[in-house]
Amino acid sequence: MWRWAVEEWLGLNVVVDLNRCQGYAQCAFLAPEVFTMHGEESLLYHPVVPDGQLEQVRRAAVACPVQAIVMGEEAGAGAR
Ligand code: SF4
Repeated sequence: MWRWAVEEWLGLNVVVDLNRCQGYAQCAFLAPEVFTMHGEESLLYHPVVPDGQLEQVRRAAVACPVQAIVMGEEAGAGAR
């Protein structure tokens, strides 16, 4: 629980594997401030979770049918 609080305070990284993403848009529905569909298949997203959006992004990551959304330290390592 404390770790979630620290991550939210620091600004948690999020990365979407766009090779894996199939444009199902569950993420855009569950966390529209972070994920936005551009056209029918292109996904745009904020690479740092904004304040107050952590739970929505966690739900989006769990709901993604192809597990394309990576959060936390793994996402930060992937972005380097
Ligand atoms: S839910 Fe997953 S597959 Fe669907 S648009 Fe978001 S990242 Fe892509």
